[in-house]
Amino acid sequence: MPTKPKIGFYWCASCGGCEEAVVDLAEDILGVVEAVDIVFWPVAMDFKKKDVEAMPDKSIVATLLNGAIRSSEQEEMAHLLRRKSQYLIAYGSCAHMGGIPSLANQFSREQILKFVYEEAPTVVNDQKTRPMLQFEEKGRVVHLPELRHVVRSLDQVVDVDYYVPGCPPTAKITKQAVAALLEGKLPPKGSVLAPDIALCEQCPRKESKPTDLSFTEFKRPHWTKLDPTKCLLAQGVVCMGPATRGGCEAACIQGNMPCTGCFGPTSRVKDQGAKMLSSICSNIAPKEEKEINQVLSGIPDPVGTFYRYGLAKSLLRRKVNLPVNGKDAAV
Ligand code: SF4
Ligand code: SF4
Repeated sequence: MPTKPKIGFYWCASCGGCEEAVVDLAEDILGVVEAVDIVFWPVAMDFKKKDVEAMPDKSIVATLLNGAIRSSEQEEMAHLLRRKSQYLIAYGSCAHMGGIPSLANQFSREQILKFVYEEAPTVVNDQKTRPMLQFEEKGRVVHLPELRHVVRSLDQVVDVDYYVPGCPPTAKITKQAVAALLEGKLPPKGSVLAPDIALCEQCPRKESKPTDLSFTEFKRPHWTKLDPTKCLLAQGVVCMGPATRGGCEAACIQGNMPCTGCFGPTSRVKDQGAKMLSSICSNIAPKEEKEINQVLSGIPDPVGTFYRYGLAKSLLRRKVNLPVNGKDAAV
């Protein structure tokens, strides 16, 4: 009997949604399980790191890794799986571009630890206890992974072959990616496995998108009754469609919610957030600073709006005044 291709799944700094997306393949997952031999999937099956370490290098045909890289353990696993896999696939926005976890790059590691362990309203920690990298009791030593200074996308740590975008990726593009892999019909290395066109071009509301936008205010979707047929930008709601790759079947738009940009930019866009910012800012109607600021006050969280999924991969990447502390200060 011919051997089936070996496949691995792994998660790093992840919410678990990408693992759900694999399960969302519904009955199609049976076809995948039939066609491949899953050799590593810690969230679902009892494989250990030492099982992977024992495998010959490149013996896994493909590993789909989701989640960003925040800790030393995730970094180590990314290197291990890179070594063991012929193809390493960044699955989902966090692995692709840093994702929502990389919004933490607005703050230093110390700010984050201080808030989480000392200052958060629900925390009671009079001793100001923090996790220790090493703990010893009764002769037994326990090690914890170290939190790196910044969150990184997978390709900022190891070489990546392909990207499956989305938060999480849709069942359709996941199926297409798995089929391309199994049939050996993969595009050039480094490709994002989704159409290289802006979402607006696939949007069911594109006919109502004005060619000349003129913003006098920005509305937040949860405070506004939205017309379910009209372009959301035309209604004054920030919709990332013009700066975002299509292929998601306009799922959020179909739910009458704006695109938040999870598929990342097309290949022609260097910085997704900057593209959208430039388009928005050049279309603000008022010309005086006071009125411009009034209009912009409708976007209370610009980083979370324009860089929700891609801060780690943006030109900005992180807050620059992070503490310098030893050799890993840059990461
Ligand atoms: S891409 Fe979205 S669904 Fe997947 S791990 Fe990141 S936050 Fe969760
Ligand atoms: S801006 Fe949003 S709602 Fe308007 S056409 Fe583009 S994707 Fe559709």
